[in-house]
Amino acid sequence: ANRPFIVGNWKMNGTRAMLAEARAIDRGAARHAGVRVAVAPPFTLIQALAENAETMAIGGQDCHAAASGAYTGDVSAAMLADSGASFTILGHSERRAMHGETDEIVRAKAEAALAAGLEVIVCVGETEAQRDAGQAEAVVCGQLDCSLPVGEGVAGRVTVAYEPVWAIGTGRVPSVEDIGAIHRAIRARLVTIYGEDGAGVSILYGGSVNAANAAELLAADEVGGALVGGASLQADSFLAIVLAA
Ligand code: 13P
Repeated sequence: ANRPFIVGNWKMNGTRAMLAEARAIDRGAARHAGVRVAVAPPFTLIQALAENAETMAIGGQDCHAAASGAYTGDVSAAMLADSGASFTILGHSERRAMHGETDEIVRAKAEAALAAGLEVIVCVGETEAQRDAGQAEAVVCGQLDCSLPVGEGVAGRVTVAYEPVWAIGTGRVPSVEDIGAIHRAIRARLVTIYGEDGAGVSILYGGSVNAANAAELLAADEVGGALVGGASLQADSFLAIVLAA
């Protein structure tokens, strides 16, 4: 089995004032070698964090699907790699909702990231209305079908993050039973998509993970780690989650 994978998504937070916090996270990661620790800062901090990190991996939160060109404001996967990133998050619900990213766009970005030598963390998750309508599994499996990169040998560089939209930044989390049920469904779908390689893909839970609830959430069926927003901005709370993994 893979080491538990704990990833901090800093979202649009962090300036160089956060470098000390990042160093503290990196030192903590070195003390917990049984856990794979990563941070995805804003683009502007990737190089500085990557230059200082000895143990933790550094990644992006997005990339463009094209290799280069007239895409003002965008950043390519090769640029992320050149800055010291080893992975990127893709298809986060905030990008799907606020930047119109479709499954097809997410898949194109994932293929570009893999081509640039990055690993990818592809995010999926249902809205509250979809869950209330009993559609959570169908929505998530549809996102997996259409946004994961496909091809020979690809699964080894893919991680899936299940983040119910209604649990992000809200302090609300699904029950451990519900988390286990949807992670089992995601596992089954990964095996459908990737064959036996799908059994080795880590599935992270994300959405209001904190130091107090991490141990319980991480113990749910098929949960291979966590994608952490708010609680990743302080070394103390983030490392408490690492410790719980
Ligand atoms: P919070 O941990 O702040 O709920 O954010 C989760 C998330 O969206 C991580 O990608």
